[in-house]
Amino acid sequence: MTTQFTDLDLRPELVQAVAALGYTEPTPIQAALIPVMLTGVDVIGQAQTGTGKTAAFALPIIQNLQPGERHVQALVLCPTRELALQVAGAITEYGNVQNVRVLAVYGGQPYGPQISRLNRGVDVVVGTPGRLMDLIERNAINIHHVKTVVLDEADEMLSMGFVEDIETILAETPVERQTALFSATLPTPIRRLADKYMRQPQSIQVQREQVTVAAIEQRYYLVNQADKLVALTRLFEVEALTSALIFVRTRVGTGELANELSRRGFPAESLNGDLTQEARERTLNRFRQNQVKVLVATDVAARGLDIDDISHVFNYDLPDDPEIYIHRIGRTGRAGKTGIAMSRSSASRWRNPPCRPRKISRPAAKTNCSKTSKSG
Ligand code: AMP
Repeated sequence: MTTQFTDLDLRPELVQAVAALGYTEPTPIQAALIPVMLTGVDVIGQAQTGTGKTAAFALPIIQNLQPGERHVQALVLCPTRELALQVAGAITEYGNVQNVRVLAVYGGQPYGPQISRLNRGVDVVVGTPGRLMDLIERNAINIHHVKTVVLDEADEMLSMGFVEDIETILAETPVERQTALFSATLPTPIRRLADKYMRQPQSIQVQREQVTVAAIEQRYYLVNQADKLVALTRLFEVEALTSALIFVRTRVGTGELANELSRRGFPAESLNGDLTQEARERTLNRFRQNQVKVLVATDVAARGLDIDDISHVFNYDLPDDPEIYIHRIGRTGRAGKTGIAMSRSSASRWRNPPCRPRKISRPAAKTNCSKTSKSG
């Protein structure tokens, strides 16, 4: 028998809140983690974006909140502003019934509004380590009474050099807090951090096969390297494309492909690490508002993108790691919408294309392998 949200010790109003969002049953990480986290123990969740991990930690946080307290009660640390905004949005949505006060804090924004919101009272703060450090140094935030700290995408935060900030922030919180750490991988520095700051954490791992990829139609096309661009523009002509995210390997490649597409009558913009925060934000807003339909990005630049209704994901350059493939295509088929993921491969590159029956569990993925072979 499958686990239901009603089996997870959640209060009825939270069960109703997720039902209202169309979640019919918990994802594996939610089923495993929610009851454990509700007991207040420390947890390590090995799970990636797309597994439903946000609700897995957000629902217990909301359930354990005392409404109307003066102090910040839960703190979520995220590597990027996009992820912080996405997580804050999700917690707001899940906690709507309880009027949970959520604030996202991140760099590149004026301090004033964030500080005045903090002064008015916030239950959950979701932020990047850098901005949180600044707010602590300015005495603008008091985290001495938080009950739960979540380290989301801990491996990303560490690889971005945030380890010292994280340690300083943790040291500002009560020793008896609950700590939940989420990470796709658990390299030595993460284990060291867990050993130092967590108390007998329970580990919960989502099997690789259990990565949730909502109804996504996957296809691959075999084409010669020289024909890639033509093949892509042909697909643009025949597909009912409302918004597309194209993944390429390099920063330079994003600009080159966006220019080529624009020249061919498909206005496209690039998203890469060379852009200033403002330029990046502008591009993302244009994409969100559908003023630009095609975004060409690297994996790093696309990390934490909170865009729910991308109709198509194109793997213009294939990733080497199957997990990155899953992560990329998970950007379509979100929020209950269907999506189409297309990959380009030369015959020699991929003997086992990704849409070969690879077990993708709940919700059942529609795997539709069509193949156009030009390369012979
Ligand atoms: P996350 O891994 O937290 O980024 O979640 C990935 C996506 O899955 C988000 O768009 C969520 O709204 C959605 N989601 C989370 N939990 C469920 C669930 N139990 N059923 C269906 N969709 C879900």
